[in-house]
Amino acid sequence: MEQSEAPDLTGRCLARTRRGTLCLRWPSKGRKRCRLHGGAPGSGAPRGERHGRYKNGLWTIETRERQRQEYLAANPWIGALRTIQELLAYADELKSNER
Ligand SMILES: [Zn+2]
Repeated sequence: MEQSEAPDLTGRCLARTRRGTLCLRWPSKGRKRCRLHGGAPGSGAPRGERHGRYKNGLWTIETRERQRQEYLAANPWIGALRTIQELLAYADELKSNER
């Protein structure tokens, strides 16, 4: 059998296993780790008020996203700048894929 090439590690779980190697399983959907390494559905700390570090709700993902949206609504030119940056990055990506 042909010697297999080194696997592409992008997107893999990469948790340190008990053998000392990196876990090559694919992460659970929406997680960074596989189901054996903390990515199982329902694992992890609860969101919002039930999270151990919750204090006043000022820093929840929902609050910060809402504040971000309000900021962008109040500063529309920043949103336009980001759109231009994304377009330029996309153009670069297309160019590099042509090669
Ligand atoms: Zn894993």
